[in-house]
Amino acid sequence: AAMRHLPYFCRGEVVKGFGRGSKELGIPTANFSEQVVESFPSDISTGIYYGWACVGNGDVHKMVLSIGWNPFYKNIKKSVETHIIHTFKEDFYGEILSIVIIGYIRPEKNFDSLEALISAIQEDIEEAKRQLDLPEHLKLKEDNFFHLPEGKIVNNH
Ligand code: ADP
Ligand code: MG
Repeated sequence: AAMRHLPYFCRGEVVKGFGRGSKELGIPTANFSEQVVESFPSDISTGIYYGWACVGNGDVHKMVLSIGWNPFYKNIKKSVETHIIHTFKEDFYGEILSIVIIGYIRPEKNFDSLEALISAIQEDIEEAKRQLDLPEHLKLKEDNFFHLPEGKIVNNH
C-alpha cells in the first residue's frame, strides 16, 4: 500500500519546521509547507522513504524522507521532511526543493533513547544509499523533472 503512489514527484518551498533539533542531531530535515503536504495523496503511508532531491537548480542528491504526524496540529495533519544526504555550506530556507520519492523503508517508530533514534536514522541512510545505487533507481536521478524551470510547483506530473 505504501508503494501505490510511488514514484512520487513533488516540488515546493522549504519552510521553518518545528525546531525539534534535527540539525543538532546532525540530521537536518527540510520541511515542506502545509500547502504542499496537503497536496499529497491523503492515504500515503506515514514512515521513512528514500529518493532523490535537488535544491533550486543544484545537483541531485540521495535523500531520506519522513512522512509523519505534525505535533503542531495535534497530530491530525502530516508533515513531510527531507534529509538530503549531502553537506551544504548554508541553510536553504525559502528555496524550492524538488524531490522524487521512490521507495519505502519502514513505518514510524518510537524510540527509547536518542541514541536508538540516531542509529535507526543512520541505518535508514545506509539503506537509502544502497537502494539508490540500483540501476532502476539511478535512472530517476536523471529525470527531466529535475531540469524543469524553478519555481513551478508540480505535484506528480
Ligand atoms: P527546521 O525545524 O526548521 O526544519 P532543522 O533542524 O530540521 O530545522 O534543519 C532544517 C534546515 O537545515 C533546512 O530547512 C535547510 O535549510 C538546512 N539544511 C542544511 N543541510 C541540510 C540537509 N543536508 N538536508 C536537509 N536540510 C538541510
Ligand atoms: Mg526539519
